[in-house]
Amino acid sequence: MVDVAIIGSGIMGTFHAYHAALAGKKVIVFEKDQQPLESTVRNFGQVVPSGFAPGRWHRYGRYATELYQSLQTRCDIGIRNFGSIYLANTEDEALLLEELQQQFDAVDYPSALLTAQQILEKWPSVKPSYVRSGLFFHQEVSSEPRKMIHALHRYLEETLNIEFRYLSAVHEINDLGSRVKISTSRGAHVEAATCIVCNGRDFKYLFPELFEKADIEMVKLSMMVTKPLPEISLPGNILTGLTIRRYESFKALPSYANLDPSRVNPLTVTHGIHVLFKQRIDGSIVIGDSHHYADAAQSDQLGFDYATEVGNIILQEAQQILELPSWELAAQWNGFYAQMKHGEAIFEMQPVPNIYITTAIGGKGMTAAAGYAKENIEKILGVALAETPQIP
Ligand SMILES: Cc1cc2nc3c(=O)[nH]c(=O)nc-3n(C[C@H](O)[C@H](O)[C@H](O)COP(=O)(O)OP(=O)(O)OC[C@H]3O[C@@H](n4cnc5c(N)ncnc54)[C@H](O)[C@@H]3O)c2cc1C
Repeated sequence: MVDVAIIGSGIMGTFHAYHAALAGKKVIVFEKDQQPLESTVRNFGQVVPSGFAPGRWHRYGRYATELYQSLQTRCDIGIRNFGSIYLANTEDEALLLEELQQQFDAVDYPSALLTAQQILEKWPSVKPSYVRSGLFFHQEVSSEPRKMIHALHRYLEETLNIEFRYLSAVHEINDLGSRVKISTSRGAHVEAATCIVCNGRDFKYLFPELFEKADIEMVKLSMMVTKPLPEISLPGNILTGLTIRRYESFKALPSYANLDPSRVNPLTVTHGIHVLFKQRIDGSIVIGDSHHYADAAQSDQLGFDYATEVGNIILQEAQQILELPSWELAAQWNGFYAQMKHGEAIFEMQPVPNIYITTAIGGKGMTAAAGYAKENIEKILGVALAETPQIP
């Protein structure tokens, strides 16, 4: 018998486990694969609280940034503090950067407006023909998703005694009144006082009818990475004009409605493309992404093909922004995540008293999951954790 069982070892499950263990609970995490293979390892690794308007999710992002940095001092999870730069291409995007700075100044989240010249000095791979101005958040960090979650699991096993059980697809959770019984495809049965389901986009195994009816949609994203380019330096999270047109923090700004849509390639709108870059530790540059959508019940229709046509559009846009010594790609892949279609920012449900489902955090998990998980654990377990990140 454990206190808390978590289903899913992505970033959401891992940080729920972490905060439950900090609250003194005995925790077990079930993962269906040999290691997490989903959204948590397929993403950019940009930790960008500036992408959320001031409020709950921005606060979660700030907490996560601090927590990641504290964890990095104890265990190498690949966190680097090189900041985030938003590059404006058009006059109206540049105006939005000024408004964003004012919005964040008001909540004590500092940033620096940079001229094109200053940007070219710090990021010489940016094309002078593209950049008009930029907004730099020095406090933001980048992660290495393919490294982080694994290193974190090992660290949490050692320091907080959390048990991670891989190749253990949970196929049934039975309500026993005061506790639940969890059964895996390997025939294991574990009883827990509380079960938290953080199963990402995998709706088929648990509560399928519930998910089919939920206001959730699936998103498919196209990503690519260049071969290592150690000879260039592209520090931090690079976000561009198309991002300024897409991220939540810009949408409520006074001039957002005045953005001129004719300044962007219509194909970027058709395929939900906004161009982001992040240089990995090995020097390769991750480039993305596009967004295609389907209702949760129809999510298989998104298919599994990597759409070369979409990848080519991303690449053409990217080549207008950066000058790289080589655009030779090392890999292309699809990522998927679930997100809410309307209103709510995340899916939460308690089908029976001891089972809590939480998923569909959408495109914000690497930035916000840690902060959200802390609050959710406090709510579920009725505990109060320290305001500032605590590390074992
Ligand atoms: C291409 C791409 C780029 C992104 N870029 C960023 C970014 O730069 N910054 C950012 O903040 N966010 C980004 N995101 C979003 C972020 O990656 C997600 O929000 C986050 O990873 C979701 O985490 P999760 O734990 O909910 O889901 P997942 O990572 O999908 O984890 C769920 C886990 O549950 C397991 N599981 C499911 N069902 C069962 C079961 N029955 N039994 C056992 N295990 C089960 C799965 O195997 C999986 O490992 C991006 C996402 C994508 C796809």
